[in-house]
Amino acid sequence: ILEARDLSLSFGATPALRGASLQVEAGEMLAIMGPSGSGKSTLLHCLAGILVPSSGEVWFAGERLDSRSDEARSAVRRDRFGFVFQFGQLVPELTALENVALPLLLAGVRRAAALKRAEPWFERLGLEGLGARRSGELSGGQAQRVALARALVAEPEVLFADEPTGALDSLTGEQVMDLLVDTARSAGTTVVLVTHEARVAAYADREVIVRDGRVNSPALTP
Ligand code: ATP
Ligand code: MG
Repeated sequence: ILEARDLSLSFGATPALRGASLQVEAGEMLAIMGPSGSGKSTLLHCLAGILVPSSGEVWFAGERLDSRSDEARSAVRRDRFGFVFQFGQLVPELTALENVALPLLLAGVRRAAALKRAEPWFERLGLEGLGARRSGELSGGQAQRVALARALVAEPEVLFADEPTGALDSLTGEQVMDLLVDTARSAGTTVVLVTHEARVAAYADREVIVRDGRVNSPALTP
């Protein structure tokens, strides 16, 4: 469903990707592992159309993604992708319920309908009674579950997650991963997950390792 072909991208003099290639099958859950600074987040952002590689191609659902306009890539992200990041992703001025409804509001769903669709996620993710809270009034694990609800509320085809449990203690991280895996599996969502924790990668169907801006399968790396 998603493919990176020979991606390269530098930030100034720093090469982040150096010929990274990767295929993601529809419905699978793929873990991207590798050392800090190896290019994992950059690869994820290229796959998601957030960053454009300086060379190489990104394909999604049979169409080239990287060569399209900023507006076209934004529309794909809004309509077909969901995102969970490590931290700092909720809008502090909005309530938890409004945060979850946000992707629907941005897609043009009317406010009352969007809030109504957001509501069941609070029960589904064990967040009962927290809809009126602002992000500063939530624990890290609660905030991460709200972020997960927001990533999934618009029923994305692909969920991108960059260290979604990185800021959580191990028990809370496990709960968030269990919820992520359960909801993604039951909806058939493709998941691309970046993590440096083997424990988190163990949830995935498959893992690849990024080193020095390139992708290796674990069997090929010493
Ligand atoms: P981590 O595990 O620490 O999150 P990562 O594998 O996600 O690391 P990237 O964030 O993809 O690594 O970064 C790859 C390289 O690109 C690093 O050398 C990093 O310093 C550099 N880099 C990433 N983003 C930027 C940026 N916006 N400006 C300058 N350099 C950047
Ligand atoms: Mg990173």
